[in-house]
Parts: sequence; C-alpha cells; structure tokens
Amino acid sequence: MKITAVKGIALRCECAPISDALSTSNARQALLVKVETDSELYGIGEAFTYGAPLTVMKYLVETQLGSQLVGKDPTRIEEIWNTLYWRSLASGRRSTTLGAISGIDIALWDLLGKIAHLPVASLLGACRDRVPSYASGGFYAPGKGLPELRREVEEYLEKGYRHAKIKIGRNLDRPGSPLVYMANQNSAVTVEEDFRRIEAVKELLGKGRLIVDTNASWDSQTVLKLGPELARLGVEWIEEPIPFEDLEGMARISRELPQLQIIGCETQQGAQNFETMIRADALDIVQPDVGWAGGITECRKIGHLAQSTGRKISLHCFGSAVLFAASLHLAASLPNTEMMESEENPNPLKEELLTHPLEHDGEMNWLVPQEEGLGIHLDWTKLEKYGILT
Ligand SMILES: [Mg+2]
Repeated sequence: MKITAVKGIALRCECAPISDALSTSNARQALLVKVETDSELYGIGEAFTYGAPLTVMKYLVETQLGSQLVGKDPTRIEEIWNTLYWRSLASGRRSTTLGAISGIDIALWDLLGKIAHLPVASLLGACRDRVPSYASGGFYAPGKGLPELRREVEEYLEKGYRHAKIKIGRNLDRPGSPLVYMANQNSAVTVEEDFRRIEAVKELLGKGRLIVDTNASWDSQTVLKLGPELARLGVEWIEEPIPFEDLEGMARISRELPQLQIIGCETQQGAQNFETMIRADALDIVQPDVGWAGGITECRKIGHLAQSTGRKISLHCFGSAVLFAASLHLAASLPNTEMMESEENPNPLKEELLTHPLEHDGEMNWLVPQEEGLGIHLDWTKLEKYGILT
C-alpha cells in the first residue's frame, strides 16, 4: 500500500465568546487530516491549531509535509514521523509544524488500525476499555457571575462528573499581568474574585478534585504568594501556572508548594522537551496534547517517560471529536493514565462531526471505541457545513 495524498480539511464555526486568563475565543476551529492511499482505505487525524491560521496549518499539512509522503508505505509510522521532523528541523521542531506532524501521525495510526482490523488502543497495547474524565470549563464570559458559574458546575455534576477544571488568572489588578497586552480585556476579575469563584466551585464538588488553570499567565513569585491560599480553598491541581520556559520557576513551585500538584504543559511539545521538564522536577502530572505535542507516536513516548519516573499522565484535549477519539485510544494504552480532559464548552466540532457520538458511562468514564482504527465515522455533511478553504 502506498500513500497517494495528504489533505487538510479546515473546519470553523462561530461560538459565543469565552475567555481564559489571556485569550478570548469567538470561534472554534479544527484542521482534520486525511491520508489517502492507493487502496480504498484512508486515515483521519487532527492537527490542533491553538488559533493559528487554518491556511497555515493546511499548507503545512498538504504542501510542506504531506507532499513528501506520496509513494511511501503508510505503515512505517516511525520512519514517516522522523522524515517529517528532520526534514523540517530548521524551521520546525515546535509550534504549528509539530502540530501538523501530529495530525498526520494520528491519521496514520487510524489507517494502520483499519489495515490490521484492530482499534488503535489495541495496536498500542490497551490496558483499559474506558477512560475516566473531568469536566473542563469554568471559563470567563460576558455576564457570567458566581450564580452562572455555580449552575454550570451543577450541570457537570448532574451529568455524572466528580471532578472539574476552571480558569483563573484573568486579572488586571495583579502587577505584571500580561492581560494588559491582549486585544480583548473583557470579563477580567480581581484576584479576590477568583478566590470566590474557586470557593463556590469547591463547595459544589465536595470531595471531587478541583483543578485551576492559569494558562501560563502567572509568574513564579505570584504562584508562590497565592498558592497557599489556593490549596487552603481546596485546589489540588494547578495547570500550566507559568510559562514552561521558566524551568527553575516550575521546579521551585513544585518544591515549595507540595500541597499543589503541577500539571502541564499543553503547549509544550516533543518527548525531549518533556523529558527536560521531568528531569528538572518541574512537573507532577504530565499533560501533552496528542494533536500538538507530536501525535500518538510522540505522546506515547511522553507517557512512558512519565511512567518510568512515577508520574501520572492526563491528556490535554480541546479539539474536535477526532482528536478526542485519538486521545481516548492513547489514554487507554497508558497504565499511568489519570482522568483526561473532557471539554464541556458548547463545541459543534466535538458534538456533531460523528455519525455515532462517542459514548460514556454514568460517571463520565469514556468508552474506548472498539471498531478498527480510531473507531469513528465522520458525518461528511457536517464537514461540508463547517468546512472552509475548500
Ligand atoms: Mg490549559
């Protein structure tokens, strides 16, 4: 079997604005990847974009990277990954290039599963059939106060979730806050108001785990100063508290605030970069994004690195249903998987793209699809509905 084409399918839909500590999103987007072959089989993947222009991601997937794969054997996934990585080294290594490689890699694993008539989780050596999750939400939005935040978390609990993550850190009153540089500074709160948000959510979760996410907007001094109060209010995990470039700062937070577990970093990429962070004791729980950090091939290695150093892995996932399915398969193959992220913001690209939605049990453990490949069937009418750049 030979690869005949690698195509990018750009999807976008408008949504009500939501904000984290820094960014505001008015639309959801995804760049699906389709690897076609000289047989009737094809593979589907997703490159996460982090808001990068879809034209850029589509160009990387189809022209810079994908065109080099025509004629290659799609089952030689390691060879293809290394070919794409090394041929783009000077301009790549990270960011959108590694995101594009991630999307191609996921599509190759989907295709390999279809060739072998096995789910991707089985190809990887599955160790579970369902994956525990936490509700990921608690964003800032216009007109959203404590009553609305409480209602949102109550809905998560009614669905069966026990654990939840909320955004914090959208503060203009904190000296040095990088929010001053952002085009949209709406829905900012004071640090004190963030504490009240945490308190309200923890009261509802009870013994359930509360995760807070600053999206790397704080610095280590801020975390060291505010961390004890976060822990007193019941926060257990703090996600990506500072930019990962401050390795010593991350290690210091981990050392001096043992009551908080540092989870990260969704924006980090590549096994070697995660290894550097792990060796520096800068992470307690490892959180790569399969569509960004290097695909299933690389994130599997990151998962094993975490396992060999006694750390849990909790996959980041904020994309479409395709990326969620890929994350489920990988999570199911990693013995050190802790609950993974299950985004609860309204997202048609997660809710509508599949003819048969992904399933969960009453406690929000997601069932790993048992059909071959990623085990999903795309609703092509929805791809047409949300498709752009065609
Ligand atoms: Mg995050």
